Amino acid sequence: MQEKMHEKIKKLAELQSIDSKLEEIEKSRGNLPFLVVELEKEINEKTEEIVLIGSEKDTLEIEIKDSKALVESSKIMLEKYKHQRNMVTNNKEYEALIKEIDFRENTVVEEEEKIVDLNEKLIRNNEALEVLKRSVEEKKSMLEEKRSQLEMKLAETQEEEKLLKEKRIILVAKIDKHLYNLYRRIYDSKGQVAVVPANEGHCGGCFTILPSQKLSELKRAESIVQCDACSRILFYEIKDAD
Ligand SMILES: [Zn+2]
Repeated sequence: MQEKMHEKIKKLAELQSIDSKLEEIEKSRGNLPFLVVELEKEINEKTEEIVLIGSEKDTLEIEIKDSKALVESSKIMLEKYKHQRNMVTNNKEYEALIKEIDFRENTVVEEEEKIVDLNEKLIRNNEALEVLKRSVEEKKSMLEEKRSQLEMKLAETQEEEKLLKEKRIILVAKIDKHLYNLYRRIYDSKGQVAVVPANEGHCGGCFTILPSQKLSELKRAESIVQCDACSRILFYEIKDAD
């Protein structure tokens, strides 16, 4: 029975050691994985914006072309009407022609104003497009840099991480469920440190001095012993010599 509890505690300490190593690997990658994902997201968003502004540009160009065509055709009509005006024989015909001329002249003025307005929009549109394209280029080169940094980090640590994770799965399968849950609870709430040594007479987590009763409890290893102050699981390393 004593041996068994000792084994249980040993497994928890082993799990802590594996999790600490995995945590360290994760930390060594820094915020590179996060940065890569963020950059990819930003590039996608900006690329969509470029497509949108690009289609606005197409629409503006078509509108300008249409207005110019309307100005051209109106001018041709005006020439024709003015020529006809000189040859009309009655008032009714004359008034109708004057109306047409007025209408066409107004059309030319309106469309020319519209063209100026559309051209300004087109310039702003092109500027926005340029800014976006430049930004995407910058983000893409940044992404490439971060990706290769991350790949290097992964190459350094991936194998070790894989082995640790395999070891972890085998180990967890051998640990009682309620003990594993206790471990996880403490691990998550106490800064990823759930199992600590107590050989020096104090808790290896919060450094509270342990009462002698607790120390003898630990040495007997008949039950799981937790620190009264931080509730971390304590273990007492027994030398393999015995
Ligand atoms: Zn403690």
